[in-house]
Amino acid sequence: MDLLIGQVIRFDGDPFRDGPGAARHHGHGAVAVEGGRIVDVGEAALLRPRYPQARVHDHGQRLISAGFIDAHVHYPQTAIIASWGKRLIDWLNSYTFPEEMRFSDPAYAMEIANRYLDLVLARGTTTVCTYATIHPTSVDAIFTAARARGMRLFAGKTCMDRNAPEGLRDTARSAYDDSKALLRKWHGVDRLSYVITPRFSPTSTPEQLAALGALWREYPDCLMQTHLSEQTDEIAWVRDLFPQARDYLDTYEAQGLLGEGALYGHAIHLTERERARLIEAGASLVHCPTSNTFIGSGLFDMTLAQHLRVGLATDTGGGSNFSMLPTMAAAYEVAQLRGQSLHPAQLWWLATQGSARALHAEDRIGNLAPGMEADLVVIDLASTPAIEQATRRATDLWQQLFPTIMMGDDRAVAEVWVGGKPLVH
Ligand SMILES: [Zn+2]
Repeated sequence: MDLLIGQVIRFDGDPFRDGPGAARHHGHGAVAVEGGRIVDVGEAALLRPRYPQARVHDHGQRLISAGFIDAHVHYPQTAIIASWGKRLIDWLNSYTFPEEMRFSDPAYAMEIANRYLDLVLARGTTTVCTYATIHPTSVDAIFTAARARGMRLFAGKTCMDRNAPEGLRDTARSAYDDSKALLRKWHGVDRLSYVITPRFSPTSTPEQLAALGALWREYPDCLMQTHLSEQTDEIAWVRDLFPQARDYLDTYEAQGLLGEGALYGHAIHLTERERARLIEAGASLVHCPTSNTFIGSGLFDMTLAQHLRVGLATDTGGGSNFSMLPTMAAAYEVAQLRGQSLHPAQLWWLATQGSARALHAEDRIGNLAPGMEADLVVIDLASTPAIEQATRRATDLWQQLFPTIMMGDDRAVAEVWVGGKPLVH
């Protein structure tokens, strides 16, 4: 057994519904870990005598939290992160599609999968939900790399059968067949989950969306991920491509791609009908704030978090950072521009338990409680001189934590545990 000692943050509830009091803070706390799971959380003074045989890891004033969960990424875009210029559709054509083409080479897919997971683990992210490319080998690569690291990870083959270059198109039939074969190969193996993944309506025919809707009906315990209403010119394009649809959401809804377990990235420019249907269906939305500002998409309405499951994500490589710390900072700034002030408890919750709820995995990851899987991050709350001087007069956890949210990076990540084992020292 291992006993981590330090400041501890965990959640008893949802700070968007219950306020900041939903967070519990132990100034001198402890987390007991055994067999890959958390067995106890509480005051160090109580846990130390309770587990006298445990190996003690004393982190002093550092903060022990559940590992971060990035609910929407494109791992194949690792190498093109921070590419200059352009709006969504041009960005896809100029940077994304040429790079995704390279994943027909299994060795390149494996190289990027390993590089990507090492980058995110060093930033305290212990679970991601990722799009692969259209190539089945790109799914094999990321699942193989995650399995070797013992990570809980969600991924799926991106399906596109139109409006993409030669070499990056499948068909309705092959998208169904390949997705099904990958699902049967990987879903439920160790800590891996397959996600049915049409990229977005502009690159799928109604026939392909219907085929994937049929696959989802066969495997309803899988998640389904796609993009929704990211940019206004994208929405206009969808209107041209689907003249019968009531709105963007309807292009999915009509083909059986709306329901609990549906994850929609971005969801910025929603109509009243779309909001009402998403809430009614119990769908999840994933907010990608650094991507939304980087590509100039718009400002997500965080009041939606009071009505449905909202996760937080980098949207690598449309997003401009691999780390969830600047992603929390961007979520704070985007909300400010909408006149909404997010409490640090809400930001931290979004990056952990909120994302876990969006992925329907909140009973396993994203919080510190007995029985949960032991994916942890240990945060240095004074990781740079600028942050240290800003926290010196702090009188509570939130004053100590907020400068790290706003200014922190990988230097703030002191240690990461995956499945009950420490990775980074
Ligand atoms: Zn995306």
